[in-house]
Amino acid sequence: MSNNNKGIVGVVGLGSMGLGMAQTLAASQFETLGFDLSEERRALAAKSGVTPVSTISELFEKSAFLVFSLPTAKDVAGVVNNHIGVLDARQGQKIVIIDTSTSEPDVSRELADKLAGLGHGFLDAPVSGGPAGAASGKLTMMIGGSDEDVAVAGPVIEAMSAKALHVGPSGAGNVAKLVNNLLAAAHMVTTSEGLKLAAAAGIDPEAALRVLNAASGRSMISEVHFPTWIMSDRFDSGFSMGLMRKDVRLASELAARTGAELPLADAVAKLWAGSTELNDTDDFTRMGAFKSAGK
Ligand code: NAD
Repeated sequence: MSNNNKGIVGVVGLGSMGLGMAQTLAASQFETLGFDLSEERRALAAKSGVTPVSTISELFEKSAFLVFSLPTAKDVAGVVNNHIGVLDARQGQKIVIIDTSTSEPDVSRELADKLAGLGHGFLDAPVSGGPAGAASGKLTMMIGGSDEDVAVAGPVIEAMSAKALHVGPSGAGNVAKLVNNLLAAAHMVTTSEGLKLAAAAGIDPEAALRVLNAASGRSMISEVHFPTWIMSDRFDSGFSMGLMRKDVRLASELAARTGAELPLADAVAKLWAGSTELNDTDDFTRMGAFKSAGK
């Protein structure tokens, strides 16, 4: 049953992450509307308490909160800029956009300024925890934006996340997320290289992984991703090679822009960009198998 007092939430992008978030919000008694370019994704949303709409404009016209889960910063800016007219017409009825996409700090800052000028809010609020975390409302969210907007969006953020960290002003959430994913991408490479070394030296990689996970070489990649998706040959974590390549590229661009010299990150970026045997549509966990297979 929906409760209008909580405010209508419109979810833009019902992919691996957005569909789970929309379902979580609906299960948390928010009246939840959803839009995706794909009719198939809209139909899936309708099966679990989310009301699909046929245009994004309808979401902008009706919602108090908009949750974005889109592939790139370009998609995020495109959706906002195409609806400036509606945002302008709704001045006085504050709307807060909670952008959970892994996006770019400069784009988030620009959009937050634009929205603030119209009396609305924009939070960069990228997430970690994968499709399972989205569907269970247990994401970790890293937020950039004003205290006021974070407070207004508090109930929506709380419904979607187990941990929500307000990192700093606009763009800070994106910076934290790019740093996080750069490390996850590095852990994927270092863990698979470690297991490759163990195998080359005559140790069973499964046994070596058990040791890492009981010792100081472990990470979430070694504790969760290797046993669940790589050693099991499942490769269905729900996060694509293409999206991880985007994140590693954005982290490298951030390093170049800020003048931070990161020699290991440079090597990691080359490996992710150069793994041409893997397609953008492959699951990103294939990168671990590719490396430990000895290629
Ligand atoms: P996805 O490709 O599964 O979903 C994206 C959805 O957005 C697609 O269904 C697509 O049709 C839709 N879309 C694209 N442009 C649109 C538009 N203009 N209007 C409406 N819908 C549009 O991607 P995902 O894995 O769900 O990732 C979404 C975002 O979350 C990305 O920025 C990604 O980097 C980030 N992220 C993903 C994961 C993960 O594990 N999958 C984890 C954390 C963060």
